[in-house]
Amino acid sequence: MSTPVVPDPKAPSPAEPTPQVRSVDWEDFREHLATADKDGNRTWIYAKKPSGRWHQRRAVFAWLLIAIMFAGPFIRIHGNPLLMINILERKFSILGRIFWPEDTIIFAVAMLVFFGGIMIFTTAFGRLWCGWACPQTVMMEMVFRKLDYLIEGDAQAQRALDAAPWTARKLAKKLFKHGIFFSLSFLIGNTLLSYIIGLDQLLVIITDNPMDHLGGLGAMVAFTLLFYGIFARFREQACTFICPYGRFQSALLDENTMIVAYDHKRGETRAPWKRDQRLELRREENHGDCVNCHQCVAVCPTGIDIRNGVQMECVNCTACIDACDHVMDKIGRPRGLIRYASLNGIEKGQPLRFTARMKLYATMLTGLVILFLALVFTRAEVETLFLRAPGSLFQAAPDGRISNLYTAKIVNKSNRDLPIQFRLLNHGGRVVVLGAASFIAPKEKVSQTSVLIELGPTDRQGPTTQLELGVYSGDKLLETVKTAFIGPR
Ligand code: SF4
Ligand code: SF4
Repeated sequence: MSTPVVPDPKAPSPAEPTPQVRSVDWEDFREHLATADKDGNRTWIYAKKPSGRWHQRRAVFAWLLIAIMFAGPFIRIHGNPLLMINILERKFSILGRIFWPEDTIIFAVAMLVFFGGIMIFTTAFGRLWCGWACPQTVMMEMVFRKLDYLIEGDAQAQRALDAAPWTARKLAKKLFKHGIFFSLSFLIGNTLLSYIIGLDQLLVIITDNPMDHLGGLGAMVAFTLLFYGIFARFREQACTFICPYGRFQSALLDENTMIVAYDHKRGETRAPWKRDQRLELRREENHGDCVNCHQCVAVCPTGIDIRNGVQMECVNCTACIDACDHVMDKIGRPRGLIRYASLNGIEKGQPLRFTARMKLYATMLTGLVILFLALVFTRAEVETLFLRAPGSLFQAAPDGRISNLYTAKIVNKSNRDLPIQFRLLNHGGRVVVLGAASFIAPKEKVSQTSVLIELGPTDRQGPTTQLELGVYSGDKLLETVKTAFIGPR
């Protein structure tokens, strides 16, 4: 039971939009949201089931992304997760390389690359990310809304079911659908959690005594409820109200940006298609190709009318392109009344251009990417923090030797255990690692040890001596650290 597609040339004239299709007021669409009435109450969007070549392409791409998303926690490179952002332990794995909080500069540059990438990408291609790759849109449109169609039918059937009184059949349908929604939300929540704490830790939480992992279980429940709330109820509101990307796009888009756009030059003046109407007669009456059937509005998951121009709510999902193409096919007009185009493309017929602004952004981005790669590939294998042990002063031996106690904290960023030795580089003296003949820094871990440094009377330079220590693994100098040595006046 779907909304009839209107302009069949052999059918009676579709003089008015079908009543079950939302109609957006041409004059005051910017005064209120399509998903709220004038009193601010939520207007539920019953988007008509999309179909067509763009939807098929998006579906293929979306399922590829979904497969990657769910497979991600199981993929390991050099034994490390493909992606892990463990904020609690402050340990991060990107493409199998472990990063630490000490890699702050790399993170800062990565953030700049990310935001720079968004800027240039949005300037050139508008909200292509939202329509094609955003996890919210992908899961909402390709999974949860598909379940709506599968269980409750197309938009009209969903609307009828919601308006109908509660019966056993309605209750069974709703319970069934929301049961699946909840299970999927649980799956998504756990997948997100495994990207945060790692799959191994997640399995420990699942298989261990629940009382030992109340925090982890709390996170599981919170994520499940969050995703259930978003996909079952909040839906397109997440894009409209919460996501900041849609808000700042207005600062990035220009007349050369490629967006999903209605060709108003070709479409206006809109008017219903009259049966057996000849194109010439339609042109004489100053009517364009838009037959005002509202099919583009009916399929829109954010409830807007693309013919009103660029709007913050548009997630570039392409559903209106397909809907309008179907209509154009039926009336024998070329496809593409709604299409990917820039405003200049529509107004002046210009192809997509690499503008001065885009060139500037691209240059900045290239510089940042080079810096990022240089930082990643020249990153030291270990990072050592060498501090005097808290509260300790110095010890004096009868033969005049003075010793200081230190704490060495070593971050081994490599994927192998490293035997570590310390050697004094700028002074004579002795370095002793306490409690062990040799010290092994375990791979991808932070370890700590106590180190005693002894200097003879001739090695010191007064009460404070600046020392330079080499951190070695075998004969390989990994790093040089500096510290202060104190002694008597
Ligand atoms: S733009 Fe296309 S789908 Fe939308 S009302 Fe006009 S003809 Fe119908
Ligand atoms: S206007 Fe078109 S592209 Fe934009 S959200 Fe609605 S259906 Fe998707």
